[in-house]
Amino acid sequence: MATKRDYYEILGVPKNASPEEIKKAYRKLAMQYHPDRNPGDKEAEEKFKEAAEAYEVLSDPEKRRRYDQFGHEGMRGTDFREWTDINDIFNHFRDIFSGAGFGGSIFDDFFGGSTSTRSRRGSSVQRGSDLRVKIKLALEEIATGVSKKIKIKRYKKCSSCNGTGAESSGGYKTCPVCNGTGEIRQVSRSIFGQFVNITTCNNCGGEGKIISNPCKLCNGEGRVQEDATITVDIPAGVSTGNYLTLRGEGNAGRRGGPNGDLIVVVEELPHEIFHRQGDDIIYELNLSIPEAVLGGEIEVPTLTGKAKLKLEAGLSPGKILRMKGKGLPNVNTKRQGDQLIVVNIYVPNKLSQQEKEIMQSLMNSANFKPKERTKKSKNIFEHFKDIWN
Ligand SMILES: [Zn+2]
Ligand SMILES: [Zn+2]
Repeated sequence: MATKRDYYEILGVPKNASPEEIKKAYRKLAMQYHPDRNPGDKEAEEKFKEAAEAYEVLSDPEKRRRYDQFGHEGMRGTDFREWTDINDIFNHFRDIFSGAGFGGSIFDDFFGGSTSTRSRRGSSVQRGSDLRVKIKLALEEIATGVSKKIKIKRYKKCSSCNGTGAESSGGYKTCPVCNGTGEIRQVSRSIFGQFVNITTCNNCGGEGKIISNPCKLCNGEGRVQEDATITVDIPAGVSTGNYLTLRGEGNAGRRGGPNGDLIVVVEELPHEIFHRQGDDIIYELNLSIPEAVLGGEIEVPTLTGKAKLKLEAGLSPGKILRMKGKGLPNVNTKRQGDQLIVVNIYVPNKLSQQEKEIMQSLMNSANFKPKERTKKSKNIFEHFKDIWN
């Protein structure tokens, strides 16, 4: 792909241009490069699309902020699109192109073709709502990051009317209630003089036009429900409450309104044997008395499979061993957490005669006697208190 031009440069506006200036600049370009005026001119068509793309981003406060911050890179993974079909441009920026109703010529409005002074209130095209879904993840999935398919119900643009809500033949007619102004003016008189109260027309929602022949598939909504399967890439290290925003994967707006977002909220499933503390994983290990006394090598489970663990001789219960890097990656820094092994010693409660004799002889060994009867150890329960209470 060729390097993209800066959107502000395309529209010829400064970085701090107001929404009104951006709109004005875009209309000017749209008029200049309009396909009706430049039939068969490929370069004009490209310019026309380029301007639409720039306008789509800079006219949307959220997208503009992203663009200002990250440039073209920031538009990835959003509902941002490059325009391929010119008709999409007309549909999408209906409020820009509309004059005597969309579908009418762009020039009606630009050249003041309509005799009535049309209110330039924004069109009533509304962005679709955001959708929220919860996704449950096992610690193993969080450890590596995971790609998940989720099923959602959402509104999508009606394919029959391309989101317009109108049956192709019918189109729109001027709203009879407001005569196309989109506003209702009420004049009231008082002793202080005459007041004009202007409200949005209820009949047309301020659009000034109503569908004369609504689309049969969507009943004029411009959108229909669908079952969608979306693939979500969850980065490693997430935790409960983290969320990902998938731009444009939410509900389509009514009558061609832009899509809302899909917000995926992470919920961590409790694990059978591991506790999580931040990026560390805590594992309680039962050792036999000989293992604790003699040490050796054993296998312990980790989030990514079994791992060998060397035990030094003479491990007391409560001792914490650290397996470096066997925890979770930090979601931001990607620094790997550790697996902490808390040593516990298994003591059998029934012994054979032979075992009893071995124990008895150990009891007489001076080496097995504690140096002191009383010892206040570091309180590991304090350390892990949010897990063990
Ligand atoms: Zn439809
Ligand atoms: Zn009306």
